[in-house]
Formats: sequence, C-alpha cells, structure tokens
Amino acid sequence: MSSSDSTTSLKPDTKLAHSGRNPRGFHGFVNPPVVHASTVLYPDVETMVTGGQTYSYARRGNPTTDSLEEALKEMEGAAGAKIANSGLNAVALAILSCVKAGDRILIADTAYGPTRHFADTVLPRTGVAVEYYDPSLGSNIKTLFRDETTAVFTEAPGSLSFEMQDIPAIAAAAHEIGATVLMDNTWASPLYCQPIALGVDLSIQAGTKYIVGHSDAMLGTIAASDRAWEGLHELCGAMGAHVAPDDIFLGLRGLRTLSVRLERHQRNTLEVIDWLKDQDQVAGIRYPALESDPGHEIWKRDFSGASGLFAFDFADGTSKEQNFRFLNALTLFGLGYSWGGFESLAIPVRLKGMRTATPFDEGLQSVRLHIGLEDPEDLIRDLAQAFESAFA
Ligand SMILES: *Cc1c(COP(=O)(O)O)cnc(C)c1O
Repeated sequence: MSSSDSTTSLKPDTKLAHSGRNPRGFHGFVNPPVVHASTVLYPDVETMVTGGQTYSYARRGNPTTDSLEEALKEMEGAAGAKIANSGLNAVALAILSCVKAGDRILIADTAYGPTRHFADTVLPRTGVAVEYYDPSLGSNIKTLFRDETTAVFTEAPGSLSFEMQDIPAIAAAAHEIGATVLMDNTWASPLYCQPIALGVDLSIQAGTKYIVGHSDAMLGTIAASDRAWEGLHELCGAMGAHVAPDDIFLGLRGLRTLSVRLERHQRNTLEVIDWLKDQDQVAGIRYPALESDPGHEIWKRDFSGASGLFAFDFADGTSKEQNFRFLNALTLFGLGYSWGGFESLAIPVRLKGMRTATPFDEGLQSVRLHIGLEDPEDLIRDLAQAFESAFA
C-alpha cells in the first residue's frame, strides 16, 4: 500500500510532505528511486502477453513518475494527474485531450502568449475552431456558446495583465452544455488555488515555475476531474508523453518545500509593493491580493494566497526608453521570462499581438516583476536606484 492512500484528508502542507511517497516500498528510504529506464523485463511470456505486472514499458510510467503523479493527484483533489515536459506541453496535451475536429474552444484573451500560439497554429490544422473571449465574462460566457462549443480555457490571473476570472461561474455555465473547463493555474500553484474544487476539469501547471522552484528544470502538470481523466490518460499515452526521471525528481523535491517558498514569495512581494505603490513613477499595480485590484473580491473568494508575480504601470507620459533604462539599471533583478525560481526577475510588458478580444493601451509602459527569496530591503534599494537612473 502506498503511504499516500491514507493522506487524502490531510491539510495541504501535510500532503506536500507525505503524498506520493512510499518508503516501505523502497527499503525505508524517504524518497522514491530515480528510475532511469526504457526496457521492462517480464518473468515469463504468460505475464508478458497478459500484461500481468505493474509496469510494462518505461514510456508508460515507472515508480518515479508514479510518485509525482500521485502527489499531484492528491494536492489537486483530482481523479488523476499526468506530467508533461513543459508547461506549454501540458497546455497542448490538456486541450488536445478534450477536443476533436468540428469542435470550437473558447480561450481567455489573457491566456499565456505561447498558449495562443499553439491555439492559432495547431488547432486549426486539427479542425478545431478557436475564439478568444473577454476574461471578465463570468456566467455571461454563455452568450458565446454555440452547438460546437466543447471546451472553455481559463487562466487566472491573466498572463502579463493579471485580470481575475470568475472560474466557478464560467465552469457552471460550461457544464450546462457539457463543455470541458480548463484552467492554467500556474500563478497560484495548487497550494493557493484548487481548480478542480472550483469546477475545473483540467487543471494545468507550468511545473517549471513554483513546483520545480529553482530555475533548473522544465515540467508541466495536468490534473483531471472524473469526467476528463480518461480522455487525458488516453491522449498522453497515444502521444508518447514522457518526462525524464531527473526532471521529475527535481519536481518532487521542489514540491516538498512549495509551501514555505510561496509564503516567503508572498510576504516579500507585499513588502516590495507597499513601497512601490508610493513611488511617483508608478501609476498602478496589478496584483489581485491588493484591495485596490479589480479582481480582489474574486481572488479573496477563490484563492488562499498570492504568489510573487505582478506588474506595475508607469505613470502617464513615461516613454519606452525610460522603461528600458529602468530595466537595464536593475542589478538584483535578472531580465528573464521563466519565473517561479528563488531569484527576482523583470521584463517589459508587451501585449501587442496577445490581445484580440479586449482593448489594451498600446502606449502604456509596464513592467512585470517576479519577487524572489532575496531580502526585500535589498530589492527595494535596487528598484529605487533604477527609478533614479531611468528618470534622472
Ligand atoms: C511559463 C508559463 C507557461 C509555460 O511553462 P513552460 O514550462 O515554460 O513551458 C504556461 N502558462 C503560464 C501561465 C506560464 O507562466
């Protein structure tokens, strides 16, 4: 018996520490072995032809993959979970698992850019139509439903612009027509938002971000509700989805400390924002945990915490050159896209080509920050000197 069979009723932090582990199955060692494998041997031909043993072929899983998938299943309250080789791969596999030729998928206009790229370039070739929708539509999403609508993709808060979505309202509307609901929940991680409990069928994580948490591996995860699990399991098998055991090991290792890291990311972020909001050069902050944020009520209702990623808008009249000077002047914040590690990062927000259903201000100068595990006083000093040098 796996130790995790008995952990379903435990609190999230306890699940993080115990789920997916089975020390007695591995001579008492705390962690499962990192199984490097392709071939699986059978004791006799009868076992072979009847499929009479747990593992048959390494692509289909081994004790290392089982451990992470089991832990994710428990964390997400899911019927089952699969691992993909990147967050984007998880998005692609999740979508492909629930659509077929002739179907139409609705995708939030604020979805992650490469998700749009997948939807715009691959889905049309499979005969699936794509329509982007205003993320602020709650149950009114039903005004966009047609007979062919079979899936609704959500992401909250939205990539780069951080709008919240009323996931339970969207899920309830979608289920009325039997559509599958997907959510990219990377920002909150399964610790601060539980998509399946909100009505989501396919809960997606860029595990690369907070689960791995150390900027040293790429991983995607998909957890499925009862109605979506069989389709997901089938599709991942048919596609030959497989992740190398060393990367899964890094995901498992990251998962064990997710709670302490996220708590610190959140605390540091609030401290940095508390300083940032009073700066003359800053017009607004996009972070749903702030009471002033338009998505705050939904965040408070559906999420139990906030992570280290947010954006701020420069004051009116700030030029692109000033924005770039600010970014170039930062010394502790690295200029890099893939967030979720222990280090602070910054990028310029560029929405051009990434919004088609909702208007955005093309002239607005914004920066997205990821607040890492450094001392926030040092981060604030770095931001202060970058403002000085950009606006001198
Ligand atoms: C980074 C990210 C992804 C993609 O993850 P990768 O592992 O980099 O492919 C997907 N969704 C969101 C919201 C992300 O931030």
